[in-house]
Amino acid sequence: MKAAVFHAPGDVRIEQISEPGQPGPGELLIQVAKAALCGTDSAEWDHGPLLAQPPVVLGHEFTGTVVAAGPETAGFPTGTKVVSGAGISCGTCEWCAAGRTNLCASYQTLGLHRDGGLAELVLSPASICRPVPEGLGDVAAAMAQPLAVALHAARRGRTGPGRSCAVIGAGGIGAFIVAAAAALGANPVIAVDIADGRLETAAALGAALTVNAERQDPVAAVREATGQQGAHVVIEASGAPASPAAALAMARQGGDVVMVGLQPRPVAVDLFSVSTREVDVHGTLAHVCGEDLGEAVTLLATTPLAAAVLGGVISLDELIEGGLRPLAERKAHGKIIVDIPVSAR
Ligand SMILES: [Zn+2]
Ligand SMILES: [Zn+2]
Repeated sequence: MKAAVFHAPGDVRIEQISEPGQPGPGELLIQVAKAALCGTDSAEWDHGPLLAQPPVVLGHEFTGTVVAAGPETAGFPTGTKVVSGAGISCGTCEWCAAGRTNLCASYQTLGLHRDGGLAELVLSPASICRPVPEGLGDVAAAMAQPLAVALHAARRGRTGPGRSCAVIGAGGIGAFIVAAAAALGANPVIAVDIADGRLETAAALGAALTVNAERQDPVAAVREATGQQGAHVVIEASGAPASPAAALAMARQGGDVVMVGLQPRPVAVDLFSVSTREVDVHGTLAHVCGEDLGEAVTLLATTPLAAAVLGGVISLDELIEGGLRPLAERKAHGKIIVDIPVSAR
């Protein structure tokens, strides 16, 4: 079958590899229809391996059809259209027992540690799959995993009704976070970015206020929009070195700050202010399938989110020049979806 295999930095090959084989207990063999790309894929290709264990088939955001179901996969008969989550957890460790399956002691991610969905076929546990409802197209369904990641990040900051939420960085995962915050009832949602195009998308996704940080002081703008108190929740999704300090400064006394953007090196922040204003700072990783994936599917089926964030659809052969390179060079606009060919099996 055809697959995108990550071998080494700068070396992702579209090549023929052997099929995954028949599904074991609890597993589904999925014929992939569409896969979405994200910054993780391009970072692995550009300067990995970071988390990936090459050689591995990339792709952790995908949708397709069950073509074979192993034992103990009730609810997922052959022919079922599914989205898959990305993380596989053991179900028995301390973190799994507490429902924090994304922190599982033996967590593995499809497309990084195990062969993923940028291939014609992929094996995935039924426990991390959800059926695709009637009427939800493949392009939108392929965005369920990143939307689940966004919902998890927003929940980490206790985003909800009656609470304002500022999102720094409205491209990539940030666009999904704006939509997630709005869906969870935050009001107002304030999007901060340096690109007007991304801010327009954020407005379409539910941001009541957009702030271009190159033209306006974002901390002052957020304070002004929140009665000079700062936002209840600030979600830092840009990864820019100056943004953690700005995020803390934007947060209200007693507020929550979620660090989504990955900082490549330590940055200075004002911890005196964190202590004395009781600001809670949260990390966030991936998503919790049981809480986030089904809700993501429902949101995609009931809102125009997918159309608002879609950048374009490319073929598997265009993966590098049409997907990984523009993402690595930060030139991609919107979510890039890869169409996976259906071979004559
Ligand atoms: Zn991703
Ligand atoms: Zn576990």
